[in-house]
Amino acid sequence: MKFVVVDVQGYVINSTFTVKELAIYDGKYLKSFLFKPTLKYSSLYTADRKTYHNIHGISYSAGNVEYSEINNILENNLSSFDIIFVKGQVKVDVLRKYFAEWTHIVNLENSVSSQVPQLEPTKENCDNHKLKYSNCSIRNVYVVSDYIYKKLIE
Ligand SMILES: [Zn+2]
Repeated sequence: MKFVVVDVQGYVINSTFTVKELAIYDGKYLKSFLFKPTLKYSSLYTADRKTYHNIHGISYSAGNVEYSEINNILENNLSSFDIIFVKGQVKVDVLRKYFAEWTHIVNLENSVSSQVPQLEPTKENCDNHKLKYSNCSIRNVYVVSDYIYKKLIE
């Protein structure tokens, strides 16, 4: 059984969740992507700006991947796996938005185990983040993957 862990950090623009940082980890190889903004900062609603600044601390203008590439990136990197683990409904929704037919997504948030790790803002995050405490998709995929491996050997 081949599995992979996916995490995204993003923000809501015009009521739609937009991915900023995407991390994919299969236990061996980490792939991460930082997407360019889809809209000018000046055209965001005030509420969206506030959400943006308080979640993950990634500069709005940061990014080197065109957002239009997200379908290809997800398809190329996830299609060969039997199970895709995520934690959080937002992440399930993101994956389903691009690939509605994927039925092998497991949301660990629905697990009854109390040992499923909390994905809260921490100091352990990658260089994309400007806040001291922030949520980092790269850190999250490592944490979730560690949890799954521990479960498998129990
Ligand atoms: Zn990060």
